[in-house]
Amino acid sequence: MKKLDIIDVVKDLIDSTKILLKKDFKNTCSHDEVYRGGAIWTICSQCGKKWADDEGGMSEYQDPEEWDDAQKAIDNGEELLKRLEEFVKARYGISYRAITKNDGKDCLND
Ligand SMILES: [Zn+2]
Repeated sequence: MKKLDIIDVVKDLIDSTKILLKKDFKNTCSHDEVYRGGAIWTICSQCGKKWADDEGGMSEYQDPEEWDDAQKAIDNGEELLKRLEEFVKARYGISYRAITKNDGKDCLND
């Protein structure tokens, strides 16, 4: 069975979520520059999205709520890793990484 280390797994989740979030920031248009087209259209100069006046017109841009959720997950993951390191250090006097290198033989099984 593949050996999984909780710190490596959580760090990978944090890092990949940060990369996805950064990519999504870059690829999401906040429709800052618009122009009027025809009689009823408001059109974004940057991404080309169109809003029809008879369908409510352009709505105010809001960041996707997934961004907040992803940022909270990143913050919680970082806090969890910090607390785990602090707990292990206080309990066993060495770093979590030092314990997992020995497969826990020195500390976790006594
Ligand atoms: Zn746009």
